[in-house]
Amino acid sequence: MKAQPQASHFVNGAYVEDTSGTPIDVIYPATGEVIAKVYAATPAMVDQALASAKAAQGEWAAMSGTERGRVLRRAADIIRARNRDLSVLETLDTGKPLQETLVADATSGADALEYFGGLAGALTGEHIQLGGGDFVYTVREALGVCVGIGAWNYPTQIACWKASPALACGNAMVFKPSETTPLGALKVAEILHEAGLPAGVFNVVQGMGEVGASLVTDPRVAKVSLTGSVPTGQKVYAAAAAEMKHVTMELGGKSPMIVFDDADIEDAVGGAILGNFYSSGQVCSNGTRVFVQKGIKEAFLARLKARVEAAVIGDPLDEATNFGPLVSEGQLGIVQRYIDKGVAEGARLVTGGGRVDREGFYLWPTVLADVTDDMTVAREEIFGPVMSVLEFETEEEVIRRANDTAYGLSGGVFTGNLTRAHRVVAALQAGTCWINTYNLAPVEAPFGGTKMSGVGRENSKAAIEYYSQLKSVYVAMGPVDAPF
Ligand code: NDP
Repeated sequence: MKAQPQASHFVNGAYVEDTSGTPIDVIYPATGEVIAKVYAATPAMVDQALASAKAAQGEWAAMSGTERGRVLRRAADIIRARNRDLSVLETLDTGKPLQETLVADATSGADALEYFGGLAGALTGEHIQLGGGDFVYTVREALGVCVGIGAWNYPTQIACWKASPALACGNAMVFKPSETTPLGALKVAEILHEAGLPAGVFNVVQGMGEVGASLVTDPRVAKVSLTGSVPTGQKVYAAAAAEMKHVTMELGGKSPMIVFDDADIEDAVGGAILGNFYSSGQVCSNGTRVFVQKGIKEAFLARLKARVEAAVIGDPLDEATNFGPLVSEGQLGIVQRYIDKGVAEGARLVTGGGRVDREGFYLWPTVLADVTDDMTVAREEIFGPVMSVLEFETEEEVIRRANDTAYGLSGGVFTGNLTRAHRVVAALQAGTCWINTYNLAPVEAPFGGTKMSGVGRENSKAAIEYYSQLKSVYVAMGPVDAPF
């Protein structure tokens, strides 16, 4: 199986190869096979990408929003027309089942391109009338060159979620994918240019953290948008602060999902499955602390176990498969150690717990019950298919325990009581909440975290605020009244 990209980087409107950088093997997680090789960007390649972005940005920003939007919307159409090929590539890059990638990856990238393409022509400033005929008008300006840095769980979606609002606002971007999944973003660049994007407006360079760090500190860069872990976010945010750069930080979480005893059990179990095992649990917003009210806990666990054990684990390219491998051997090791620690600290293993006996980086979907707030599995982000079930008795108690975390990305509540649902989400310290569902992230809705989970919002009209700035212009209509 091969998925060799045309070259490692996409700079100034074309694929560019430079084999003098550190080689990076791209591994298909279902087999461990090397399917492609790319080379990390050298400092010269990073410089070339930034220089081309800087040179192209002014002209791109000078086009009308409608013209910019047309390019993005054309790219969305191309992505949809090639969804199957792009989804197969995403599956090879990440190991996620084709059943998922066909509906959740390139397609959600296309949604973002279409949405922000539509919004581009509607971006305006405002007119503010003052006394004496004076007035102020505001101009919404691009920031300049933006850097996007991606995680490995949604490589195509992350590239599109960052490129779409950035480009709609008239910025240029240099994007660095995770070294683990370098392929999808190259296709996004190729398609954007096929759709008419001027050379240099969107560039992709490969590499490890140090390539990302060199982009963040470059004085040509006005803004950095990172999707990654909290420790990386802290480093990138600090480096950006040195030159007062704008940031968007989409970081990790340890989100609560609260199931009250009046909830529909099948829906709650379904939500817990979506919020813990989709993409083999490698989703930042997952509700990995599932608080279940005492009265229905055992019934919930029984249905959960039955449904989790019905997962179809197998070849991710087989569309019947609905649970695939983890992204890498390294990630599998991290997750396995968390499971072992959970059991050692007293959690009850309901199902799963170990490696699936087949090639590739497969772990059984794992449910731990009798988890308490102080256990490591309840405190740290695992980023794998491990659900912790915790018992609670009262609403007041569960809100306090749900918020007792440094993270604040997401949260969910399952209940048949309308007022309680709204009361509880109002009390949750989280950027994105769900009532009677979990993990749906349409482009129309703002997405992002509070507390240690991040800064800023992606998607929706809110993202425009993070990729543009306002210039305020005061216009005097009368004589200047100076004191002397
Ligand atoms: P990492 O934080 O390890 O890496 C994220 C990206 O940052 C990678 O491209 C990485 O490069 C790069 N990077 C690492 N160090 C630096 C640095 N010093 N300066 C600049 N860039 C750097 O995250 P993972 O890739 O392991 O992804 C998993 C994490 O991402 C989880 O914590 C998850 O919760 C979070 N995430 C958050 C989402 C959100 O929207 N809130 C969505 C998806 C994931 P490389 O890895 O190639 O070395």
